[in-house]
Amino acid sequence: MSMINEIVEQLTVRHCRLPVRSRRDHGSGLVSGSVDVVILELRTSGGITGWGEASPWAVFTGTAEAAAAALQRYIAPVVLGRHIAEIPAIMTDADRTIAGHPEAKAALETALLDAVGKAAELPVWALLGGRLRSQIPLSVSLADPEFDADIDLVAKLRADGIGIVKLKTGTKEHAFDVMRLERLRKDYPGLDIRVDYNQGMEPVDALRRLRDIELFDVTFIEQPVSGAHLETMAMLAGALDTPLLADESVFSPSDMMRAAQGRICDAVSVKIMKTGGLRRGLDVSAIAASAGIAGYGGDMFESGLAHLAGTHMIAAAPNITLGCEFYQSSYYLSHDLLSQPFPVKDGYVIVPEGPGLGIDPDDEMVRQMTVSEQVIQR
Ligand SMILES: [Mg+2]
Repeated sequence: MSMINEIVEQLTVRHCRLPVRSRRDHGSGLVSGSVDVVILELRTSGGITGWGEASPWAVFTGTAEAAAAALQRYIAPVVLGRHIAEIPAIMTDADRTIAGHPEAKAALETALLDAVGKAAELPVWALLGGRLRSQIPLSVSLADPEFDADIDLVAKLRADGIGIVKLKTGTKEHAFDVMRLERLRKDYPGLDIRVDYNQGMEPVDALRRLRDIELFDVTFIEQPVSGAHLETMAMLAGALDTPLLADESVFSPSDMMRAAQGRICDAVSVKIMKTGGLRRGLDVSAIAASAGIAGYGGDMFESGLAHLAGTHMIAAAPNITLGCEFYQSSYYLSHDLLSQPFPVKDGYVIVPEGPGLGIDPDDEMVRQMTVSEQVIQR
């Protein structure tokens, strides 16, 4: 079967609601009950199925409703009938058809890469130029408003071989963050601890409070202030000894260019849901590398399907050296959508070697989680 002859025949767009195990508080945004994602199923003329996921977060990038509408109404007409391997042309047309909506575009590009990989019998990382790493250190985020629940989780994580946690800070008073860091550092002296404010800090007095945080030997401090406060980020990056990581400040390659020019950070969280796909994630990573800024593999509230896409990108990205946070399929969702567990072993995500993404969703599980569905044919 030649991938050159494969044509996109049908897109199925499903809005899925995935139950989660607990509430989570962030500097901006609260999650409880369930998270909403959009699952894209692409069928080709030769019967290949490519899968992709849009995982928006309303306080960060957008909504599942908007991602579904972007795919159904605006993107489907420019994709149906196209050759699956014309990914740069299709993605360029998607950008010309609808502004923004990076999660919908990430779903589209993921589904195309999955289909091309299956047709070519190559993993997605091979389509992106090849593999630099076969496993990625896994970080698990701690954001339970009940800190005792997080203490129990950390004990389980340690038993599972996980050596990195990211504490979500800036949700309550500063003393709550200091108390939790004191406890974690005392109980686990060798643990790799990072903190993420999700923009939760007011710029005034941020430097003095972050100097308190530095006392706990954290690996990096992520996005303390609003994504728009580039000057404050630059001031903090210059003043602190601990690396400052930008997340909400950097979506696109041009954002990364501005971040490098303004020296707003020492590291950057690369997420396909911000960049609008894997190839543009690699672009962000390359610009960061050229400025001496390290990459980290971030995520949104995702199922294992989006984690797989991110995993293939990081496998091919020399500069994403700070690990990844693809923990939700294993530790946060009540049930994942994949037909096999997302591959995690001894604290590492294992990069799949099968064709395409390497694991498909489970059809029945996707059906169970679907709240609305639309099929668009050529
Ligand atoms: Mg973040």
